[in-house]
Amino acid sequence: MLKITKFGGSSLADASRFLRVRDIVLSDISRRVVVVSAAGKRHAGDHKITDLLYLCHAHLSYGVSCWDLWRRICDRYIDIRNGCSLQYPIEQELERIYAGLSAQTSCDYIASRGEYLSARLMAELLGYTFVDSAEWLQFDYAGRVLYDESYANLQSLADGRKIVTPGFYGVLPNGAVHTFSRGGSDVTGSLAAAALHADLYENWTDVTGILAADPRIVANPASIAQLSYEELQALSRVGTQVLHESAVEPVRSRQIPLQIRSTWQPELPGTRIGLPSTDYSAEPSIVGFAGRRNLAMLRVASSDIGRRMGDILRTLSLAGLSVFHSACALEQLTVLIDLDGSSERLHECTERLRAQLPQAQLKLRENLSVLAALLRGPDLLPKLVAAVQANGVPVHYLADTRPCLLMIVNDSQYETALRAAYSVCQKNN
Ligand code: ASP
Repeated sequence: MLKITKFGGSSLADASRFLRVRDIVLSDISRRVVVVSAAGKRHAGDHKITDLLYLCHAHLSYGVSCWDLWRRICDRYIDIRNGCSLQYPIEQELERIYAGLSAQTSCDYIASRGEYLSARLMAELLGYTFVDSAEWLQFDYAGRVLYDESYANLQSLADGRKIVTPGFYGVLPNGAVHTFSRGGSDVTGSLAAAALHADLYENWTDVTGILAADPRIVANPASIAQLSYEELQALSRVGTQVLHESAVEPVRSRQIPLQIRSTWQPELPGTRIGLPSTDYSAEPSIVGFAGRRNLAMLRVASSDIGRRMGDILRTLSLAGLSVFHSACALEQLTVLIDLDGSSERLHECTERLRAQLPQAQLKLRENLSVLAALLRGPDLLPKLVAAVQANGVPVHYLADTRPCLLMIVNDSQYETALRAAYSVCQKNN
């Protein structure tokens, strides 16, 4: 049995958390490969090491000394080393890194040093071998992971040993460090699991799993016990953000289950992902909800909409607008657009479409949200919509995009809609 365990920044923010992670890892002999993030925030007003490193790069690129910021980073790691009673000469590592920094040092290299330092200390604390991800995780120049090469590298480096490897980065073909986008250590963990044909990828974080609803809106929502890969990806497309978006594919392609667990409550099972595709004839139930705010809905009605559809979507995309969902039925095209401060662009584009399609009727509605319900079984759809409407929330549009049902509501009524929908979920599960 082999488990790949990945710990996020909040699980590694200080020495006491490092010690907690050590206890979790050593409590199970199958936890032989550990992937770590940089140290995260210790408390609300604190800073993540990675944020400080990006700031160091910004200073250097403008020719400003980053010494003060660097001191803060050094202090954090020296404190962790001391608090864990380790002898590791981290000062030498820190001096070596600082001595190599200049205005020309790449942003990715600087940003990656948090994971590197965390992994050095964690390897020491666990008595595991440190394996630098620069030695196994390879990207091409377009930033795409070279799977075969990376997997073969890790297989020969790990070779049955107990290892700690840093998350978030790898190297380009010329050896320069390259990082994933933010939160990318999740992807490193998933790649390590796929490379080593692990039995389980455990992703340890600060939440008790994937929650059935946003806890800022619904009091004490339940954790979802099990999800299929497809269901997780469907929720993530709408807005659930527990894992990096690219973290599912490597484990999914090798059918390795993924478990989200809480470092604070290791006794809880968390959420397990990797059920076979959901059987819709199974007991109907509502699994959970995800939401996406600040959307606009454009509806174009025209008898020749089938022929016009491609042009309309192209016009929107050329205007830099991001289409979240589109559907065409009964001579009407409905497009949901993410409005990321691009309201003017949307209006401009709508006027352009009006001019291009003089026969068509165009209706634009803004200040909307989508409430997505992850359903297993079809029977609850009318109940959900009725519950939302009974609370005075009009549903402007409904799309059955299994496994998620999408309900479009006014943004100002999103919270009411979620609470109403969640109460149906509680009654039926
Ligand atoms: N430390 C990086 C970040 O803050 C990567 C990670 O934690 O996964 O985004």
